[in-house]
Amino acid sequence: MSVKIPSETIECLNFVSGEWKKPVGELINIHSPYNGAKIGNFHSTTTKEVNEAIELAYVAQQSWSQTPVKERTKIMFEFRNILLRDLEEITHIKCAESGKCFDEGKAGLMKGIEVLEFALALQNMDLGGKLEVSRGVSCEYRREALGVVANITPFNFPAMVPMWTIPIALTLGNAYIWKPSEKTPLTSMKIAKALKEAGLPDGLFQVLQGTKETVEAIIDNPHVKAVGFVGSTKIAKAVYDRGTQLGKRVLALGGAKNHIVLLPDASPELAGVGISDSFTGCAGQRCMAASVLLAVGDVDLHIKKILERASSLTLGKDMGAIITKAQKEFLHGAIERAEKAGAKILLDGRKAKAPAGMEEGNWLGPTILDHVQPGSEASKVELFGPIISIIRCKDISEAMKIENSVEYGNACSVFTQSGALAEKVIRMASTGMVGVNVGVPVPREPFSFGGISASKFGHGDITGAHSLDFWSNIKKVTMKWEKQNDNNWMS
Ligand code: NAD
Repeated sequence: MSVKIPSETIECLNFVSGEWKKPVGELINIHSPYNGAKIGNFHSTTTKEVNEAIELAYVAQQSWSQTPVKERTKIMFEFRNILLRDLEEITHIKCAESGKCFDEGKAGLMKGIEVLEFALALQNMDLGGKLEVSRGVSCEYRREALGVVANITPFNFPAMVPMWTIPIALTLGNAYIWKPSEKTPLTSMKIAKALKEAGLPDGLFQVLQGTKETVEAIIDNPHVKAVGFVGSTKIAKAVYDRGTQLGKRVLALGGAKNHIVLLPDASPELAGVGISDSFTGCAGQRCMAASVLLAVGDVDLHIKKILERASSLTLGKDMGAIITKAQKEFLHGAIERAEKAGAKILLDGRKAKAPAGMEEGNWLGPTILDHVQPGSEASKVELFGPIISIIRCKDISEAMKIENSVEYGNACSVFTQSGALAEKVIRMASTGMVGVNVGVPVPREPFSFGGISASKFGHGDITGAHSLDFWSNIKKVTMKWEKQNDNNWMS
């Protein structure tokens, strides 16, 4: 299905205590990556407006935390029904602002709904426990909400990344402050509308549009107990430092430079599709995209298959657009610099044709760079576009040395038919997520999502069971009601 680009400018607003509010800060325009057309605008939220919204969230959270989890879950269940009902409408808007193709936009939202389904199961999972530890004495632990929590999200998944945390944080009894990306803020209005219709009490979900000032005001507000962040490493580190210096809990996910280790015994068919789809999906604008192909030994047949698959893609249908003109220019420059540094261009996306009528959009076709040198820009900088850099390696040790030398730690995959070699790569990979014959090793629920090293600052993961301790506190209660006759060291 082709993406519907709004023909009129949408005014993007804040959502505060169940009402739409127009903040008074700087005016920012939103352009569709598809055709460059202005599709929306918003005013940034000032520090004063941030503090007012958080105060209202703080008040609303008091009764939400006392609402039984089963009642909170009922609202989340309704939220799921509404998202599924409005799936196409939400997909169109998120694709129009982020440049995604319709199918990948829809898949991203479905992945977000899968996290919501995990949150629906919390009522039946480990939310506490009790044991008689001594005669007449019990110990208990209770999972309690933190209070007001916040989340700051990037442009590349306008619905999925926020949905990693919204259902879990709200179901655990928190109030939630969301600062969407200033490049893709329109989707946030659809999500806020769905939560309101689902019956979420006002004040528990506040959407504040903005940029740096808004983010800093959110982090600094004393009611905000935990800050989630997903974005580039530089900003993730700055957000982590600012929040932790204030004694707050921060989980900040950063950028990536993901490697695929391709071994000669791999299935050429599996590798051709898996590797091509990994670096071209979402036009390479995802933190789990393959970026470097560590080609071990003679894998020319596999590379031919990757090339065939990538060459067959049509822009606008199979692959989306690049978020901004500036990013497109940067990617063009990176290809030029890689060639100057000695890389051979096997497929040049700069020559790809823009879809008819979309010539003003930000287009770049799949690009394959061969014989990239370790240490060069194309081998270690996160480019965030549909470009794969092939580095030729003589053996697995050389490949893993290169993989280990990169500062990021999101994902690494291996393509092979040997279990022993796959196991070797799994053990040697310096990443939080590893794939075997899978180009994009995103764990599905209930398995948690999260990298290590410069791809994540803070402890725990952002989804799944390992996220629960981030969005809640564990209170330990020890109780005795009667004097016991027998004496032991605890009585
Ligand atoms: P970004 O870092 O530019 O922006 C992320 C968020 O930070 C946005 O909401 C933005 O408004 C805010 N922000 C920007 N500058 C800020 C500042 N100086 N202080 C405080 N907040 C600021 O990232 P992006 O370009 O929107 O997204 C792409 C990046 O996100 C890539 O690096 C990608 O790898 C990363 N990403 C990582 C994951 C992951 O799970 N690790 C997932 C998705 C995207």
